[in-house]
Amino acid sequence: MIPVTTLAGKKVALFGLGGSGVATARALILGGADVTAWDDNSDSVSKAATEGIHTADLRTIDWDVQSLFVLSPGVPLTHPKPHWTVDLARTAGVDIVGDVELFVRERRAHAPDSPFIAITGTNGKSTTTALIAHILRSSGRDTQLGGNIGTAVLTLDPPKAGRFYVVECSSYQIDLAPTLNPTAGILLNLTPDHLDRHGTMQHYADIKERLVAGSDIAIVGVDDSHCATIADRIERAGGKVMRISRRHPLADGIYAEGTKLIQASAAAALPIADLDGIQTLRGGHNAQNAAAAVAACLAVGLSPEEIRTGLASFPGLKHRMQPVARRGSAVFVNDSKATNADAAAPALSSYDRIYWIAGGLPKAGGITTLAPLFPHIARAYLIGEAAPEFAATLGDSVPYEISGTLEQAVAHAAADAEKDESGPLAVMLSPACASFDQYKNFEVRGDAFVSHVAALDGITMLIASATGDK
Ligand code: ADP
Repeated sequence: MIPVTTLAGKKVALFGLGGSGVATARALILGGADVTAWDDNSDSVSKAATEGIHTADLRTIDWDVQSLFVLSPGVPLTHPKPHWTVDLARTAGVDIVGDVELFVRERRAHAPDSPFIAITGTNGKSTTTALIAHILRSSGRDTQLGGNIGTAVLTLDPPKAGRFYVVECSSYQIDLAPTLNPTAGILLNLTPDHLDRHGTMQHYADIKERLVAGSDIAIVGVDDSHCATIADRIERAGGKVMRISRRHPLADGIYAEGTKLIQASAAAALPIADLDGIQTLRGGHNAQNAAAAVAACLAVGLSPEEIRTGLASFPGLKHRMQPVARRGSAVFVNDSKATNADAAAPALSSYDRIYWIAGGLPKAGGITTLAPLFPHIARAYLIGEAAPEFAATLGDSVPYEISGTLEQAVAHAAADAEKDESGPLAVMLSPACASFDQYKNFEVRGDAFVSHVAALDGITMLIASATGDK
């Protein structure tokens, strides 16, 4: 836990008592702030109160004496419309921040030189964040990993010299962190997403830009036009920029050429790492993530050798193209996080011959956009409510069966894969669907896949337990 000492003795209002909200309230109290917390959900309020957090309806407090208003990132600041607490704070002229802002203030106050890497983008945030933390840890650095990836940033260990922070930031968190100033900031990519909460693509891009604009070094994936413009703008304003590309060579920056990552400068363009054979970093999308991770690790002082060692041993993230087992020439891959066609595309393009388990609760558009990748599919095993619709889309171009359940699908796909002698192949759950027709969430679905795989004869598990933990 990081005590928020910068607000000691001050009155602070807080709204949002989910997991990170409670942690934030505790960190403020530990640092000596006088906190009044509230939530629209009365159960959350009661629970916080039993944990010793002072609660009161924020309509009834004196806003003129509040030094700061801390808002949970899940609560609307702007779109579709500001939450009622935001209106109250603004009327009283009280600044509105989130937990990431409290963290950066603590870091500045106590360990301004501790390396701090912040990561954002539309896709690949968690993978890149976990990869950087893994490389740092494997090189023996004291590393704290948190933010949007799951561990509330204020529950990490307090900033001190030599301690490294790797923090994934959602747009909401950036929006609530006006003085965010990482040592190295990463903006991976920008595609339309969450526009319900950000209004327009421009507003969404502007928020994301703030993370890199405030960084000592801005690491920007320049394969999409929004990010390329942002990189140019930061450079013109005198900022230090490191460009990343998975698609084309760069005169200056780090780019992918097949599985090789090349570091280019005015002097030379030299390979810095090769992802060939690293199962957890397959695919062009992971080349982008790895290039960004390499750039960030170089920026905070790691040697190329330390970085290569870390890349090679990256265990991957659960449910995201995670290799979980092997049998013969087949690798079994859990990509349960792919809850729509766009998210399944990188996995389907990362293997040449796939026994593909798909289906669940279908999303609008189904799998029609995946048609260019159908040649990678040896056979499809369709489950859940989407099965008839997906079958119609596959038509005559891909052999399929309607397996119904995941258990059947795993058994049949594994048996068919075993008979296939055409070389390396994948048995993969990448459902392109939500899970709610058959499972509580994508994590439970992924865990079910892993336990069905673990029950197969002659299987070699690549992960420690049947629930996919490392
Ligand atoms: P996020 O944290 O941004 O949601 P994740 O690292 O959890 O991203 O990856 C989620 C999914 O997004 C992956 O399973 C993959 O399909 C896709 N993905 C990962 N990295 C990228 C990338 N750099 N570009 C595009 N898609 C990506």
